[in-house]
Amino acid sequence: MQSYPALLSLLQELEIPEDEAMKALLSAFTPANPGVISSTWKLRVGYGVAPDGRALWDLYKKAGFKCTKCNSKHRVTIDHIDRNPKNVELSNLQVLCMDCNRASNSRGTKNNDIGVRIFKAFVSYKKEHGKNPTNAQIREITGIADFSSGYYLINYLRGLNGEDVELREYKKKANQSLETTTMAVTPAASHPSRQP
Ligand SMILES: [Zn+2]
Repeated sequence: MQSYPALLSLLQELEIPEDEAMKALLSAFTPANPGVISSTWKLRVGYGVAPDGRALWDLYKKAGFKCTKCNSKHRVTIDHIDRNPKNVELSNLQVLCMDCNRASNSRGTKNNDIGVRIFKAFVSYKKEHGKNPTNAQIREITGIADFSSGYYLINYLRGLNGEDVELREYKKKANQSLETTTMAVTPAASHPSRQP
């Protein structure tokens, strides 16, 4: 069993109580409720059809409750392979994590680990030098040239550590949704989340 030192430092750094952390992890690592997916698809405009929850549950079981693309157990849901929501043949459905699901749409790419890399760089620099790193230093440690959505996380970490931060204005461009410009971790996916 791993001891998860980085995870522990995250909980300490953000001052997250253990039960709240467990609550968040359970919510993120419990696959979307197949019964809810089924009834949501049936009600959704443009969908209208869905296998029943039991059939979707069997898909989860067959996939080992993991994303069939990347093996992640994070925010697992069910996706239409041919992107046609009316084609609910079981052979057209696959178990995917939300990141792979989004990456397979035109809407997004899989870059969620940027936040983790930034966090680790920030904390390790602070431990070593007793002060917060500059953006240039974070860039150097992580090798990430463009933080894009990670800027807000950096500002949050600076704020927690007593720095005055100047937040960027997030302007919504004509055909760009806000989710690409903020650090938001909302599902915003084509499929229902686990909340009924
Ligand atoms: Zn995946």
